Amino acid sequence: MKQRFLADNALGQFLDWLTHYGVLHGPTRTAEGVDAFGPVQTESDLCLDYRRTLIPPKKYLLPPRQTILNYTTAAGYTLPDRPAPQQVLFGVHSCDLQGIAYLDRVFLGDRPDQLYRRYRNALTLVGLSCEPDPFCFCASSEKAPRNADLFLQRLEHGFIVSAETTRGKGMLAGLEPLLTEIEAIPPPPVESRMMIRLRNAAERGSTFPDSPLWENFAARCLSCGACSVCCPTCYCFDVLEHGALDGMTAERLREWDNCLFRAHGEVAGGHNFRPTRRERFLYRYLHKYLGFGALAGVPACVGCGRCRVVCPVAIDLTELFAEGDDVCA
Ligand code: SF4
Ligand code: SF4
Repeated sequence: MKQRFLADNALGQFLDWLTHYGVLHGPTRTAEGVDAFGPVQTESDLCLDYRRTLIPPKKYLLPPRQTILNYTTAAGYTLPDRPAPQQVLFGVHSCDLQGIAYLDRVFLGDRPDQLYRRYRNALTLVGLSCEPDPFCFCASSEKAPRNADLFLQRLEHGFIVSAETTRGKGMLAGLEPLLTEIEAIPPPPVESRMMIRLRNAAERGSTFPDSPLWENFAARCLSCGACSVCCPTCYCFDVLEHGALDGMTAERLREWDNCLFRAHGEVAGGHNFRPTRRERFLYRYLHKYLGFGALAGVPACVGCGRCRVVCPVAIDLTELFAEGDDVCA
C-alpha cells in the first residue's frame, strides 16, 4: 500500500497552503525557552521537536476568560455576535488531539455548548507524531487520532500525511501537488503500561481510598493549581455576571476554575464541600481518572505528562496506579 509523503523541503509551502484554512498557529519556543502554541508566520517560527507545550490547545476552544452571553433588557440573553476566529493549529501531538476529543464529548454531547461549537468548527487540526519522554504515558504517539483533520507522521526526510476527517480528506486532495508516494511504513507499536493500568482502574471504578499516598500528596501540595491549568482535559469554569450600573445591560463570562483551589468547593452560605487538600485530591482523581455523569468510566487523562512536569513538589498521581497494581490486577 502507498502513502502520501511530504518532503521536508516542501514544509514551507505546506504551511503557506494551510493559511487558506485560517490563521496559522503551531508549537513555538519563547525567548524564555517555554514551548507554547502561538502564531506562526514562517517555518522558522516552529519548534517541531517540542515535547509538550506549557498550556495545552484547550486555550483555542475554551479561552481562559470568555464572554458567553450578553444581556439587554430588550433582547434578554444572547450569544455574543463575534464569530470565532478561523484558525489552523499545526503540530498537535496525539495526546492533545485526544484531549480535544474529550472536550468535544463534554461540550458537544447531549446539550451542546453553542459557543464551544462555534470555536471548534472554526479550528482545523493538523497533528504531528512525537517522541515520548519519561513523563509521557500516552499510548499513541505515532497514531493519528480520528479528530485530526490531517496527521503528519515524522520520518527521516519528511512526513507521511494522512487525513482523518471529512474536512481533512478535502484538504488532502488540494495538497496533492506538494506530495509524492512512498511505500507504507506501519507506525511502531507503542504500549504504555501506565495507560493500561489507568484504564483498568477506570473500568473497575477503583478509588484506592485508603492509600497512604493521599495523605502524602495532601501534605506536600501547595494548592497552586498548576496541574489543572496545564491539563488538556481540565475544563472546570466559574461563571461571573457583570451588570452595567444603569441596570440595562450585562455580560456573563466564564473563566477557568481549578479544583485544587479551596474556593472551588465553596457555596453560598460559606459551606465548602471540599475544605481539605486530601478531599480536593480525591475529587480530582475521581473526575480525571474515573469520570463523572455521562462520562463515568471514561478517563480524562490522556497521558501528556504535563502535571508531572509542572508540579513544584513533584507530586505524581500516576503513583496511585503503580501502587494499585495489586489492587486492580
Ligand atoms: S492528568 Fe496530567 S498527564 Fe493526564 S492529561 Fe492531565 S496533565 Fe496530562
Ligand atoms: S501542581 Fe502540585 S503543588 Fe500545585 S496544586 Fe497540583 S499537585 Fe498541588
